[in-house]
Amino acid sequence: MRTSASLRSLARGSPVRPQGPAATPDPAAVLGRFTGGSRAQGAPGEQCEMCAVPIGPVHPHVADVPDHRLLCTCRPCYLLFSTTAASRGHYRAVPETYRHYADFALTPAQWDSLGIPVDLAFFYRQTEGDRYVAFYPSPGGATESLLDLAGWDEVVAANPLLGELIPDVEAVLLRRTGDGVECHLVPIDACYELVGLVRQSWEGFAGGEEVWQRIDEFFARIRERGDG
Ligand SMILES: [Zn+2]
Ligand SMILES: [Zn+2]
Repeated sequence: MRTSASLRSLARGSPVRPQGPAATPDPAAVLGRFTGGSRAQGAPGEQCEMCAVPIGPVHPHVADVPDHRLLCTCRPCYLLFSTTAASRGHYRAVPETYRHYADFALTPAQWDSLGIPVDLAFFYRQTEGDRYVAFYPSPGGATESLLDLAGWDEVVAANPLLGELIPDVEAVLLRRTGDGVECHLVPIDACYELVGLVRQSWEGFAGGEEVWQRIDEFFARIRERGDG
């Protein structure tokens, strides 16, 4: 599992803090940085990685599934891989839909069984190995949770909507709150956006006020998109 290994090795490295005001990082650049992909060097969002036309900072993504990377694309290239027929191929369009899973059920004991050390985590189904993988944002990037996922299988069984997730490109994003667990079904690039902002703004042991404010704003945005 090349991706997991490189994610872990990155998590051990010392985080590099960018200077100046924190801009929202391009999700593909964030992912490239911890998978060692070519995205690590290039300026994100400059041109479509399939046909090379110029694209703006806000653009859709196509997942290169076997290679574990996201490609920044123009709209026409993105649409080529959006059909149902294309959804099982090498390249897959990352969906743009956000769903708030209001009836999501997870007990405090089930949360504890997942072994996630922070109040944020995302899970997605990986075609390779046909299994769920779990990550949480950390100052070093996305860290894979190395737990036994039997507890998660129980959660999936109790929450049928999770069975609708599109493998590799759609994720379950969880945030533990005072009242329980907030759950959203989101495009995978949204998770990498969250990883990027945690990496950029995390301070000290608990993260600091700024990072939690940015996390609040991030969740406010996805709640808005989920209602639309
Ligand atoms: Zn293109
Ligand atoms: Zn991009």
